[in-house]
Amino acid sequence: MKARSTEDTIAAIATAQGEAGIGIVRLSGPEAVPIAASVFVSSRGCDITGPGRGRCVYHGEVRDHAGVIDEVLLHVMRAPHTYTREDVVEINCHGGPGPLGAVLEALLERGARLAGPGEFTQRAFLNGRIDLVQAEAVIDRIRARTRAALRAADAAGTGRLSAAIYAMRDSLADALARIEAAVDFPEDDLPELVDQALRRRLEGVREQMSELLDTARAGRLYREGAGVAIVGRPNVGKSSLFNALLRDARAIVTPQPGTTRDLIEEVITISGVPVRLSDTAGLRATDDEIEQMGVEIARGALRNADAVLLLVDAAAPVSEDDELLAREVSALDVPRLLVLNKIDLAPDARPPAWAGAFGACHPVSAKTAQGLKELEAALGRLLLGDVAAGPDQGLITRLHQRDSLRRAAAALDRLLANFTASPEFLSIDLRDALDALGEITGETTPEDILDRIFSSFCIGK
Ligand code: GDP
Repeated sequence: MKARSTEDTIAAIATAQGEAGIGIVRLSGPEAVPIAASVFVSSRGCDITGPGRGRCVYHGEVRDHAGVIDEVLLHVMRAPHTYTREDVVEINCHGGPGPLGAVLEALLERGARLAGPGEFTQRAFLNGRIDLVQAEAVIDRIRARTRAALRAADAAGTGRLSAAIYAMRDSLADALARIEAAVDFPEDDLPELVDQALRRRLEGVREQMSELLDTARAGRLYREGAGVAIVGRPNVGKSSLFNALLRDARAIVTPQPGTTRDLIEEVITISGVPVRLSDTAGLRATDDEIEQMGVEIARGALRNADAVLLLVDAAAPVSEDDELLAREVSALDVPRLLVLNKIDLAPDARPPAWAGAFGACHPVSAKTAQGLKELEAALGRLLLGDVAAGPDQGLITRLHQRDSLRRAAAALDRLLANFTASPEFLSIDLRDALDALGEITGETTPEDILDRIFSSFCIGK
């Protein structure tokens, strides 16, 4: 992919498609103000190109050669205190495809270039206002579906995650300076440069890397959500539990019609994680063709799930089907909980003999809601593990961040394993670790990867 120019002035519709009260067309670049001025007529006769006060709002009309397009509010924001650090103009017009498209077209006719996906944020990054972690947090804020996801995006967006990485980088850079001094002056008496104190500092950095790597699962779950499948043989109360959890743990997305009548999904919040809960067809051995299809779909949901709730009926004798299913779930090696439903009918019911393979057994009643809160809390712990880091601390949320951090940690492991080797070797490992950390913050990220990251953003962002 060809690198994008940052010399020209870009324009795009910044708001979502469809009809809305207002919509925004955004311009950024050296010609943003003159281009906007060439299509704008202020209702008070103001000249928006006048010597720059920082930020101004003007009322007026946007026109093209055919006449008035729309009544607008126009914001002029002068560099460098803007989203991109360039001159930025935002035109608030009526939010429909007609006015937005016509305003954008008028700007393009006057010399603006249509922005590519994520190009405004990419400029903010290239102009040094934000680093790559903060740039990626922009899209996380937009896509956040829970408050916890929003808080995690905020921790990254405001630089808390980056600060942790810069602190590691500074320690490694300091170590590199010492080690290179030892390389440059081998005959000098410099043994104390590469000493036990330095080793302990590097071990401390390695420890911080482990702690940050431990946040990757929670970070991914807050951002992407988790799939949780409810499975059990027919009639144990799967649909009833599904509905009870929807009522209790607020559903956060409008009902998505199931892909088939055999798999119904809804999204709820569990411990801040958007959970796609799926109610599957009853799983049991069957010769019936239609039921067989449902069973296959349920098995698919089971295999793709981040966690499984296996339901058994407290009021009915545990059957062979229950046990077969328990074995099938255990064999998948997916985090799982055993749920003993209909406890209202059989308050003294005991977990089945094979329950041990599932850890604790959770008694609930989908009918009376008894035990639901405890089940939700247990599911939250099952998904997030014992991560000490809450969403307000910087969490690693992306695969490429995790991979870079792992490479940095591996380089540091090599260095610590060979700490008494010659300084040349140590400096190679340290440089590898520094490069890997720099890929997270964007300092050493190859251009094509940067372009790919920004291209995954929406247009106008
Ligand atoms: P599924 O086939 O596993 O989805 O089971 P359903 O949710 O359709 O429930 C089967 C039957 O058990 C229905 O008559 C429900 O009303 C009943 N049921 C489900 N959960 C409970 C419960 O916790 N207590 C009682 N008493 N009945 C329940």
